[in-house]
Amino acid sequence: MSFKDLKLNKPILRAVAEAGYDQPTLVQERTIPKVLEHKDIITSAQTGTGKTAAFALPILQLLFDRQDAKKKEKTIKAMVVSPTRELAIQIAKNFKTYASYTNLRTAVIYGGTSIEPQKDILAKGLDILVATPGRLLDLHKQDLINLDYVEILVLDEADLMLDMGFIDDVKKIERLCPEQKQTLLFSATMPYKVEQLATSILTEPERIEVTPTSSAAKNVGQVLYYVPKRKKMELCLHLLRHTIKGSILIFRRTKFGVDKLHNKLLDHGYKAERLHGNRSQNERQNALADFKRGKVNILIATDVAARGIDINELDAVINFDLPNVPETYVHRIGRTGRAGEFGNAYSLCSADEKSYIKTIQQLINVQIPVEVDHPFPLDPKAKPSVHKKKGSKYKKGRKGKGSKQKKKRWY
Ligand code: AMP
Repeated sequence: MSFKDLKLNKPILRAVAEAGYDQPTLVQERTIPKVLEHKDIITSAQTGTGKTAAFALPILQLLFDRQDAKKKEKTIKAMVVSPTRELAIQIAKNFKTYASYTNLRTAVIYGGTSIEPQKDILAKGLDILVATPGRLLDLHKQDLINLDYVEILVLDEADLMLDMGFIDDVKKIERLCPEQKQTLLFSATMPYKVEQLATSILTEPERIEVTPTSSAAKNVGQVLYYVPKRKKMELCLHLLRHTIKGSILIFRRTKFGVDKLHNKLLDHGYKAERLHGNRSQNERQNALADFKRGKVNILIATDVAARGIDINELDAVINFDLPNVPETYVHRIGRTGRAGEFGNAYSLCSADEKSYIKTIQQLINVQIPVEVDHPFPLDPKAKPSVHKKKGSKYKKGRKGKGSKQKKKRWY
């Protein structure tokens, strides 16, 4: 199938061709016609499948006939809600690329940065708004955003949005838009709470599934290292010294873990950057930019911070900590080996993570090869180290709701 077959008009086809896309990806092939038919859809697809264009292209097509309103008279007709700032910025960038030969205007708003310039952008008039939930509600409360004309609402990375605690915000945003609208929900995974959300806000949705499991692993060489937990840092340094070269993304489970590894790598003379939720927007953007333009070749991140970010030409992914959700493993290793390129994924597994390997292997239906030839082997009989809970001297339920809400997130 070609993009022409998808009934997109010339200015959009021209921009797509200039972006270097020869033919639609699977998710685009399935999603674009449904969106053009004004259907609600629920698509399970991860980043890297081309899902942004799968909603951006048909939205531009649907709005194309009304592109020529004077700037100030433009109203927000399509809105994309995204969980993270980086992702919002990336989505808006894609919209702008695909809309190069139209008069449709896109803007992006997100938290963690000054609100004033965003107010000016909104005042100038736009057709498509990409936003993170908090800042969107904030600006709406100040009466600076009019959602009365929204015809298409996209909820991107819905599972992550719910994981990050945005469920009430998302529901509120949906209610602020007109009842009559087309809603498109995208999610990498479909846990029960996403299904529940979909049932409550979508109308007779069409389901589109693009399962990444086997295909994601196809171009990726996977290796597993069993190693005692306290030796992981040394093994990681050993691998960087002898085995793993090029641009490398390292995943750790917690922000603390990311910082610790980052310090260690800097101490050893490596050029590394880090991404996690405790860093300011500027710091995150700079870290990403430095990695993308090769100023540093190692990026260490938590899953949430790295989710959805389009980083091309990765040579390797290191799972310093293994994820307890098997799909996360697939998402992580899918970062390398994209677009026909070959990549490698290295996983460090300590005794307490062995059960994760089991479920990961079940999901991908592949036995990950184990590398035994390294200086820090794990005794096969080693038992997971058990952390005994010290037990609080305070009674359970001591904390008020307010203080619980203030609790810092671990990602
Ligand atoms: P996404 O899943 O939306 O994050 O897209 C992943 C990457 O694939 C982005 O760099 C897109 O520019 C690229 N892409 C999207 N659609 C296509 C296509 N049909 N052909 C080639 N590359 C594409």
